[in-house]
Amino acid sequence: MASTDQIHVIVIPLMSQSHLIPMIDLSKILAKRGLIITIITTPLNAARYQATVDRAIRSGRLRIKLVPLPFPCNEAGLPEGCENLDSLPSPDLQTKFLVSSSLLQAPLESHLEKVDPRPSCIISSLPWTKDVAYKFNIPRFAYQGISCFTLLCSHKMMLHKVHENVKYDNEPFLVPDVPDKIEFTYAQLPKMMRTSSSHGDDGIDLKDIRHQFKQAEISAEGLLVNTFEELELDYVKSYQKVAMGNVLCVGALSLCNRMVKDYEEMTSIDEHYCLKWLDTMKPKSVIYVCFGSLCHLLPKQLIEIGKGLEASNSPFIWIIREVDYNEEIKKWVKNENFEDRLKGKGLIIKGWAPQVLILSHPATGGFMTHCGWNSTLEGVSAGVPMITWPMFAEQFYNEKLIVQVLKIGIRIGVEVTMQWGEEANDGIYVKRESVKDVVDQLMDEGEKGQERRRKAQELGERANQAVEEGGSSYMNITSFIEHVKQWCNLN
Ligand code: UDP
Repeated sequence: MASTDQIHVIVIPLMSQSHLIPMIDLSKILAKRGLIITIITTPLNAARYQATVDRAIRSGRLRIKLVPLPFPCNEAGLPEGCENLDSLPSPDLQTKFLVSSSLLQAPLESHLEKVDPRPSCIISSLPWTKDVAYKFNIPRFAYQGISCFTLLCSHKMMLHKVHENVKYDNEPFLVPDVPDKIEFTYAQLPKMMRTSSSHGDDGIDLKDIRHQFKQAEISAEGLLVNTFEELELDYVKSYQKVAMGNVLCVGALSLCNRMVKDYEEMTSIDEHYCLKWLDTMKPKSVIYVCFGSLCHLLPKQLIEIGKGLEASNSPFIWIIREVDYNEEIKKWVKNENFEDRLKGKGLIIKGWAPQVLILSHPATGGFMTHCGWNSTLEGVSAGVPMITWPMFAEQFYNEKLIVQVLKIGIRIGVEVTMQWGEEANDGIYVKRESVKDVVDQLMDEGEKGQERRRKAQELGERANQAVEEGGSSYMNITSFIEHVKQWCNLN
């Protein structure tokens, strides 16, 4: 009879911050439940996350290991050192990057042949990992870092091909057969959903890649989704029917970092200083502004944001990615004496922010987000209302979930999705007046603002209940463990 402490799970994240962070969190959760975890990644990614994993090991004597496998960038046609989506010199390389993760297959198989105890299960959505699971005769669970709302809406659109029949990019169409009245325009769809652009700039067929990822999901034993049932129950149930069963909502995964300083080696500011700054602010008064790990913004757009935030009635923390904090922006900040002018009103973090800590601080009262799913869920879990500024990928879906379904946010008003890398073009230019207006509207203490805040807080509480012992996500993790145990006993 296999016992939990003999189960050895191999976790293989896609190499981007938005997969590595939640999948390391998932690893910590599984290790806390007694499982042995090996996380497969590359040397540069392992170096980024080693301290986090070491801390997890120290804190609870957890059995987690990061295994760095060499990633041959040259062979993949990528510049040396490109081991994460956020370090690609050009977004044109992203499909090549996704495809070339399969170069890890051979070294992974050699590693698994020697590993002790022998692997019991793989968690990964990378298409080639299904061959590895097959070779070692172990079950594979796919990981989904998007919502069931997005999974269901995309499925229904693809099934009924409604998006292929619209005449104009900005003509709205209804998503058929979903629990709410959800409208999209063609211009809001991710590039992979658009029929007119089936090939990437590198000649790789995007439809084929989408198909491979879908197949990897369908062929898995089950799907572990970073969401929680109470957030989107109707969509979870409907997607369960589509996927014929094993959809397990195990989030919000970031909540395993509640009240602990984690990923702190990655942050570009002294966390102590940042939290002290927040401590000086009134409860729920600060707006936190961050657009994730991949979006680029032009200096002129950044200046509009800066001026809009300054003119707004709220104190703010504003993250400017290191790559965007270029000479032009530095010069502008210096010439305007911007940081001095902001004293007591705004804090700029250049680089990486301790997002989960900031969001969960009592002084944080709003979040301006690009609607990446991790950020969305982190905002929900912290119980803060949001300003939605989607840019690319499935971010417009998340905007619709936040604003229309959950009613915990307001739109900044962008209408067109960008191919990743085109965010800097003029197409999504938001003026300072709009930034100011939307911040004032979100932070308003009037009836509508209060109602949004109440709903956000309620969802935050539900998120926390879901991961507590006996909560829905906790029980879904139990189902996953039982499933793997049963499989081990039968094989
Ligand atoms: N993040 C962070 N600090 C930053 C920027 C991002 O901690 O300064 C984290 C954020 O908390 C989230 C992830 O990076 O967990 C971003 O993932 P998301 O899906 O929101 O967006 P993406 O980066 O994929 O666009």
